[in-house]
Amino acid sequence: MNFIKVLVAVALIVLFLVFVAQHAYYVQLNFFGMVYQVPLFVIILFSFSVGFILPTLYFLMRDLRQSTFRKNLMNGISHLARGYFQKAEGELLSASKKREEVALITIKAIAERGEIHRVQELKFNRERGLVDALLGYYLLKAKDYQKAKESFLSALSKDPSNLIALKGLRDISFLEKDMSACISYQENVLKLCEKWEKDLQKKVFAEVLAYASEILLENREEFVKKAFDTYKTFYTQAIWIKYLLEKGDLKEAKKQLDKVFSGGIQNEALAILHQDEEKLTKIMDFIRERQESINPEVLVRIYIKLSLFTQIKPLLDKVSEPLKLIAFSSESHRDIDKTCGELLQKLYKPWVCSCGESYNSYVPLCERCLTWGNIMLRGVEDVA
Ligand SMILES: [Zn+2]
Repeated sequence: MNFIKVLVAVALIVLFLVFVAQHAYYVQLNFFGMVYQVPLFVIILFSFSVGFILPTLYFLMRDLRQSTFRKNLMNGISHLARGYFQKAEGELLSASKKREEVALITIKAIAERGEIHRVQELKFNRERGLVDALLGYYLLKAKDYQKAKESFLSALSKDPSNLIALKGLRDISFLEKDMSACISYQENVLKLCEKWEKDLQKKVFAEVLAYASEILLENREEFVKKAFDTYKTFYTQAIWIKYLLEKGDLKEAKKQLDKVFSGGIQNEALAILHQDEEKLTKIMDFIRERQESINPEVLVRIYIKLSLFTQIKPLLDKVSEPLKLIAFSSESHRDIDKTCGELLQKLYKPWVCSCGESYNSYVPLCERCLTWGNIMLRGVEDVA
């Protein structure tokens, strides 16, 4: 191997010497009237050297700058991963001004320290709306809805298909009960989201429509039908039955209730429907026939609503203490007890999210953890 290297080197030197010998004659150079005699091979070698050295210097400088950038980025990420958030911010801050992607990691480091509001004053690169969307996301988690909304809107003005911003604005409009805006944002989310979450977003869209149908009464029919056609959750089905009862279509309502029972979601659906006394009366015979497959907790609430106290007594052993108290207070003839019962009904929260937050009535979005469709009826697994 070494022998081959020596051979190649010798061959190159010989070729070089031959080249020098062949171009050793002098040529005349004329530079601003001054005349020089220079060997031709010197001019050729000089031109070659300049041609190589200048680009090399240029790329070397660029590489040096890039390697500093890369070093800062890598150090920043590893500090972040090891829990040294201040150090991570220090390493990443200058690169964040040039590259928006780096600013995202810096925001993560700042958010970990609980200082997300400080990001608004920092001079990050924000040209693509990535920083605005992520800042909005953290502000939303910090429950600063107004500032989060401003950030998301700014992100959308730079990139109308930013999913983080669209989802954030959808959540905020839901919490602010601006249901038409919520529907329109969710329509865009559904259009733009990736295949893996299409089904989930469809479900969210259906529940948003069902919820909106209870608020925007002028669009009730349109929304309730669209919700039911888009996705069948216990909520969209319950609202559909409620709508059928409202219309007086008792036959169709009972058919739908039958499906709800065979689908095993009767407790959730009835817990949603139980608030309306008039509608409950219409389906009471149906409920009585199937009361064996209804959770006592749900059944007792229905009977309280309809003041059917004799029906409650045999069930009292099977229900929770707060519900027992509500039942006793409602049955009493004293006004003070009745008022107490009504207050207790408001405090009674049978719906619970996986994050632990509980609710008096069903809502599609949990305000505490900002997740959709995670709120379930407490204790329905112990169906009597
Ligand atoms: Zn939650």
